[in-house]
Amino acid sequence: RRARDAALLPAPARTADGVPVRVSLSVDEIAQLRAVDPAHADGIGLVRTEAMFMTRASTPGEEGQLALYRILLQWAGGRPVTIRTVDPGAGKALPGVADGGLRGVAFGLANPELFRTQLRAMLRAACFGDLTVLLPMLESPEQLAGARALLDQAAAELRQAGRSFGQPRLAMMVETRPAVERIAEFAVDAYAVGLGDLAAAVLGQARDAGDPEPARHPAVAEHVRRVLEHARSAGKPVSLCGAAAVEPELIPTWLRLGVREFCAPAPALAATKAAIAAVDLSAA
Ligand code: PEP
Ligand code: MG
Repeated sequence: RRARDAALLPAPARTADGVPVRVSLSVDEIAQLRAVDPAHADGIGLVRTEAMFMTRASTPGEEGQLALYRILLQWAGGRPVTIRTVDPGAGKALPGVADGGLRGVAFGLANPELFRTQLRAMLRAACFGDLTVLLPMLESPEQLAGARALLDQAAAELRQAGRSFGQPRLAMMVETRPAVERIAEFAVDAYAVGLGDLAAAVLGQARDAGDPEPARHPAVAEHVRRVLEHARSAGKPVSLCGAAAVEPELIPTWLRLGVREFCAPAPALAATKAAIAAVDLSAA
């Protein structure tokens, strides 16, 4: 089975009836890319920057972050790369920084200096490839407006300092209930569904990292369906992230719902492509 899966690795993913499906990588550490051929993935769909920082002695500053993001973009060689702003909490702590119980964008808005430092590093990194900035745990359009204002301010700071920078796209994680309920109100370029947090929120359960079980609940699929429906009408891409996204048994369900991009950690790349190749979407 492993040998069969590995044979599918070099080619872009397709269902049994030939529907193309994107499979991008999720990355928690640069070292995870070492054994991966960039041609085997459709770019990088999720970089958990808090995970990259938490293994260090201190949270890197603008130059240190730029160096990391540049490695990711250069590795991707022009393929799209989505880097997420920090999402502390849920077992992830930034070295030397108290999260105050806040996660995602709420943490960034409460720590604007730190957030702008990260946004400046991302804006500068955008010169080295095709970059999307991804905002985690977004709950309201007001939070998005706040994040956008800090992004504008970060760009103004770079302009003032005479630094060159690019124009990344802006995407949101859809992993809270209000994000799904108000999905049409968020003016972003793309969506990434975080099944781990979304399933926990929809079912009112504590999150058990890596356990795909809660995502099997029909209420979770219904939330994913609503996001896909809106995205289709708005003409914006959606990727499905989290352990349950690439659980081989669940991949047929997500494909039938309309998911056309999965985000997989490197060790799951081959099995994800194999699970996609086994699904015939033309069958009833
Ligand atoms: C998720 O919530 O499923 C997700 C992809 O983000 P994280 O695992 O970093 O919370
Ligand atoms: Mg999440």
